[in-house]
Amino acid sequence: MEQLVDDPLTPANLARKESFGSPTRPLISSPYRAGRRFIFHYTRTLECNDSKAQSLTYSGNGTGTDTYSGTGIVSSNNILTTMVTENNGKHEGDLVRLKCSVQNYDWGRTGHESLVAKMFSSNCDGQIDETEHYAELWMGTHASGPSYVVGEKGIEDLSLKSWILKNPQVLGDVVVDKWGVDLPFMFKVLSVARALSIQAHPDKELAGFLHMLKPNVYKDANHKPEMVVALTEFEALCGFISFKELEAVLESVPEIKEVIGTAYAGQVLPVNEHEKEEKQTQFLQSIFIKLMSAESKVVSAAVTKLISRLTMENETRKLTSKEELALKLENEHPHDIGVIASFFFNHVRLNPGEALHISPNEPHAYLGGECVECMATSDNVVRAGLTPKNRDVKILCSMLTYKQGSPEILKGVPVNEYTKRYNPPFDEFEVEQCVLDQGASVIFPAVPGPSIFLVLSGQGFMYTPSSTTAAAAPLSSPSLSPPSSSSSASSSPLSSPSSSSSSSLSDDMVRGGDVLFAPANTEVHVSTESALHLYRAGVNHLTFLKT
Ligand SMILES: [Zn+2]
Repeated sequence: MEQLVDDPLTPANLARKESFGSPTRPLISSPYRAGRRFIFHYTRTLECNDSKAQSLTYSGNGTGTDTYSGTGIVSSNNILTTMVTENNGKHEGDLVRLKCSVQNYDWGRTGHESLVAKMFSSNCDGQIDETEHYAELWMGTHASGPSYVVGEKGIEDLSLKSWILKNPQVLGDVVVDKWGVDLPFMFKVLSVARALSIQAHPDKELAGFLHMLKPNVYKDANHKPEMVVALTEFEALCGFISFKELEAVLESVPEIKEVIGTAYAGQVLPVNEHEKEEKQTQFLQSIFIKLMSAESKVVSAAVTKLISRLTMENETRKLTSKEELALKLENEHPHDIGVIASFFFNHVRLNPGEALHISPNEPHAYLGGECVECMATSDNVVRAGLTPKNRDVKILCSMLTYKQGSPEILKGVPVNEYTKRYNPPFDEFEVEQCVLDQGASVIFPAVPGPSIFLVLSGQGFMYTPSSTTAAAAPLSSPSLSPPSSSSSASSSPLSSPSSSSSSSLSDDMVRGGDVLFAPANTEVHVSTESALHLYRAGVNHLTFLKT
């Protein structure tokens, strides 16, 4: 036990830390009312003499009569996390309702056209603005779009991240040991009206470097493998086409050669089978870099030529799906290099229920449709086309693996009569889809890590064995005051859409738009009133088998 002598925890000091870009905010940030006990929580890097966990205790007086206290632990990755202890109520076995954030990016579907808008509106009891874009619903702890827990008095200023910091046991030991006191994954719903940027997400090493270099652009130091599970037909560009397809594209799309120069064509002459793949990768890399770094007037001229040729040919023959896509992309992003670059990528069309996973350093662009998406907790995107946002063409070109060939499409593996699991090759997450007919019920077995449940549509009940000891079976109320009895029927009802609309509804009733956090080691029972469609995001179950 040691005192941080050089780090007096005054409110001013906390504010100073925030201004340095501390990734979390004080739970009760302002005002620091005299006499009010406040909870501090932020993360910072400490230099430790060894990598073993240490523990630190803070207590003292700030300015005026503010008082504060709490404990911190240093996890093995030398990140100090402070948290309060006195309100560290036990929450195993309880489900926690979440209110989630929405992102209004301009590629999102508008108004009632957007599933995200409908989910957000019922999740937060909000009105839908018909002129607004509703692109992404975020469920998780990322600072750019945090989820909040619903307490006894409705939504308090308590983010899921803060609540987890106070109750790290809800993550389970394996997760805390591996990733620290934070949710390792983020869950989203996407409503895509038009193409997102051509992008890739950095691996951990590059993310750390980019975050250090440009913290305003790359806001965290984590990698971001991701997976989409299609809710409607969902279109994407993902990964580079095979070498054979590339050769055909260079022949059939002469405008590409006009950008990269004819000297590049026919450059690859493989010597033997062993060298073939390497040469093909080098060839792809060299022409892709040449293409992406071309001057804008060269690009603009080539795109104009391509579009007028395709428009003319459209009258005499049926265009290929790639050619049709080029016309669509040009319409959305005039004169953009992405229109030409799209010929280099696999054009993937997912049917509802099919999933696509994307590893770090792989190029992709979502084009249209609605999906749920899961990823490691990060928002790092390196963009290079089809976007008005900041482009980092050099970084993108240097980070890609230039792997060629079709991506794997996951169909989901049945885990019971109603549930399918999508298991990508990443430790942080997996997704389950559960479709229940009216009258059906199912149990999600306890798992050693946390889960987020999203009710997509329908109405039913979700509860845990610990919450069924009382007749009313309330969901937990993660309030700041010590819980009197989390399973007691006398707990106040939650002010959530499902419980506030009618007093006859019990607190474990769920319906479309509800989002629930389930702590580690919690069995979750689901029964239905009407057909119920839900998704669970959790830590990849294979991660627990490895430990
Ligand atoms: Zn992405």
